[in-house]
Formats: sequence, C-alpha cells, structure tokens
Amino acid sequence: MKKINILVVEDDVSVRNLIVTTLKLHEYKYEIAQTGKEALMIVSSQSPDVILLDLGLPDIDGCEVISTIRSWSNVPIIVVSARTEDNDKIEALDRGADDYLTKPFSVDELLARIRVVIRRLNTVDTSGSSLYQNGNLCVDFIAGTVTMCNEEIHLTPIEYKLLCVLCKNTGKVLTHKYILKEVWGTALENDIASLRVFMATLRKKLEEKDPTTKYIQTHVGVGYRMIKH
Ligand code: CA
Repeated sequence: MKKINILVVEDDVSVRNLIVTTLKLHEYKYEIAQTGKEALMIVSSQSPDVILLDLGLPDIDGCEVISTIRSWSNVPIIVVSARTEDNDKIEALDRGADDYLTKPFSVDELLARIRVVIRRLNTVDTSGSSLYQNGNLCVDFIAGTVTMCNEEIHLTPIEYKLLCVLCKNTGKVLTHKYILKEVWGTALENDIASLRVFMATLRKKLEEKDPTTKYIQTHVGVGYRMIKH
C-alpha cells in the first residue's frame, strides 16, 4: 500500500519536531513547510494526502492558506491552533478545514485525527449517490426516508435537513454557522440555541433505535460532526 504523505506546516520548531517524530514512528511520509508560501508551493507540486496546518504562520494567515488551497483542492486539512485562537479555528473550519487540534495536544490525539481523515480518503466517494449508509443508519435522499437498523425513523423537515447536511459531510467538523446557513439560510448567532434543540431531538430519535452507536458528536463552542462507522 502506498504510504500516506502528510504535509506539516508549522513554524514552531518544537511542535514541528513532535509532529514529525510521531509521523516517522508510525511510518507516514511527510514534507515540511515553515511558511504559508512554502505550504502552497508544496501542495501544488507534491499533492500531499493530508495537511496539518498551523494557523499562526509568519507570512500568510492560516485561514488565507486554506481558502487558497480550497480553490483547487479537497485535500483533508487538519488545523493546529493555540487555545487563544479559538475564533481562528472556527473561521478555518468555515473556510473548509476538516478538523482541528488545539495546542498543546497529545500524540494520541494527533494520530486519531489523522486516522479520521484517512478513513474519509479511503471511503468511496458517495457524494453523487442517492443512498447513504453509515453503520446502521441509512438515508434515501430521493425517497426522503431515514432508517436505523432497518426501522424507519420519522423526522420533522428541519431534523431531516439537519441530518442530510451532517451525512453529506461525514467525518468533517461542521461549525454552527455552516449548519445554520445550510439548513435555515441564515447564520445569526442567536439561532445556535434553536440549532441545539433540533440537534437534541434528532440525536434522541437516532439513539432510540441504535442506543449503542454514537453518530452525532458535539464539539462544544464549535459545532457538530457525523462520525464515520
Ligand atoms: Ca506558529
């Protein structure tokens, strides 16, 4: 099997060393970039499989780097940010990053995040398909039906829309803003409270039929993710 090639974009030597040592130990290939410009060059010339991107870079803002990459590539991007950069992290997700890690992070966390995006890479792209299957959950986008463990679940129109947005972005962390825009067409801060309510009822309906599997993961202060099973 071809080795996964990871681009590490980080100007902080100690963080970069920790990441690189971890990647080596787990037999990943890697490239290093210390600036945003270098990162863009490597992405266009080497097409890495995954990008680990520090948001605080010396030249270009990390969020700008994401927007530029997203103009031509869907390569998974995991953002690495400091705790003080919480808003940047959310903006990074809004601009198309897949996931995030907050410094200081553990090696286990780092490896787990990488595994999640690689699983996404390895799943057949079903974005054009009218049937969605994940664990015991099945959504038929044409019929508009949802089943769990072969039993139909009755959702309200908003719950169904919410579920569709999550399914179509399985594995990816979606921000409140992104979900509000997709479902309601607005992104007003105070709608987050109603989003929470709808998400709670949706989750309850899914869990009633399959109590042992977790499908929707909450990211406090950030948003939600549909877990890939
Ligand atoms: Ca930095």
